[in-house]
Amino acid sequence: MSINLTQENYYHENNMRIKRGDTVLIIAGKDKGKRGKVLQVFPMREKIMVEGINIRKKHVRPKRSGEKGQTVEMSLPFAISNAQVICTKCKKASRMGFKDLDDGKKHRICKKCGQPQ
Ligand SMILES: [Zn+2]
Repeated sequence: MSINLTQENYYHENNMRIKRGDTVLIIAGKDKGKRGKVLQVFPMREKIMVEGINIRKKHVRPKRSGEKGQTVEMSLPFAISNAQVICTKCKKASRMGFKDLDDGKKHRICKKCGQPQ
């Protein structure tokens, strides 16, 4: 039986092209061109949450009468395909691939410069 890499296991947790702590460039949507740090990854939903990206303002009602309501800004998760990792080596926004290196482990590599990330 051949192994078929479907879209589903393509983004499996240990196989993620984007990891928490990565700096990503937003390549689509209203925040296109912005950069931010990945705060959280949601492999099952193929979404990521990035600092300062996809901000929604949420109005919080006062808990007690007499208190003022507040507006809280929060980052919401968005599709992983809207972001590209900025390589720590060549500093370019790049697609990431996987490669078995000499230590026998699978490493995430930058497709532009070939360096492990
Ligand atoms: Zn690179």
